[in-house]
Amino acid sequence: MNCQLCQTNSNHRLSLLQTFNVIKNQKKQLCQTCELTFTLITVGCLGCGRQQKTNQLCHDCYRWQQTGKKLLNHTALYQYNDAMRQFMQQYKFNGDYDLRVIFNRVLNQQINTLNADIIVPIPVSEHTMKTRGFNQTIGLIEGMAYEHLLKVSAGQKSHQSQFNRKIRMMRKQPFSMMKQISLEGKEILLVDDVYTTGNTLYHAAELLYECGAQNVRSISLSR
Ligand SMILES: [Zn+2]
Ligand SMILES: [Zn+2]
Repeated sequence: MNCQLCQTNSNHRLSLLQTFNVIKNQKKQLCQTCELTFTLITVGCLGCGRQQKTNQLCHDCYRWQQTGKKLLNHTALYQYNDAMRQFMQQYKFNGDYDLRVIFNRVLNQQINTLNADIIVPIPVSEHTMKTRGFNQTIGLIEGMAYEHLLKVSAGQKSHQSQFNRKIRMMRKQPFSMMKQISLEGKEILLVDDVYTTGNTLYHAAELLYECGAQNVRSISLSR
C-alpha cells in the first residue's frame, strides 16, 4: 500500500497508528516513518491540553480564567509539531480531503470517551466553504453524530493567521446560532481541528452557555 502522506510504498507490518486506525478503507494508511513524526500529548494543561510536565493551568488558561470565562477543559490529541503543521497544510489548505481518514478513528474514539450529549463542530465561514469545499473538522470526525448549532456570522473572514495574537484575542464574537434552541442541562463537546489561542472555542462556548448549556468542553486533533 502507499502511505497516504509521503506516497512511499511499504509492506511493513502494522504500526501503532494503523492499529488504532484499523481502517475501513485499507489504502488510507501511514508508513511507519510518517507515523513516528506525530507526537501524542501525554500530559496536558487542564485548561487547553497543551503538552506540559504537569496538568496544572498554563499561563494562557490562567488569563482566560481571569476574563471570567468558565474553563474549557480542552483535550488535544497531538502536539502541533512540524509533521502536524504539514498535515494541516496538505489537508486544509491544499484541500486534500482524503487525508481526513488518517486521524478519524483515534479522534472519534477519544470523543466517545467524553460522553457528551451533543457534539458541535466549529463551523467554517461561507467564504472558506466556497474556496476549500469542506469543513475540515467535520471531515476529521466523519461517522460521529453531530449537530450544526453554530455558524460564522456574516462579514467574518476566515484568515485568522493574518492577524497577530492580540488582535485575535480582542475580536468580537465570530459566531451565531443556526437556530434558537434551549440547551438546558446539556453537556456539549465542541470540536475543532487545532487549538491555537483558544479564542475560537471560548467564543463558541460562550454562545452555547447563553443557550443554557450546562457544561461545554472541547477537543481538537492538535494543540
Ligand atoms: Zn509515509
Ligand atoms: Zn492551558
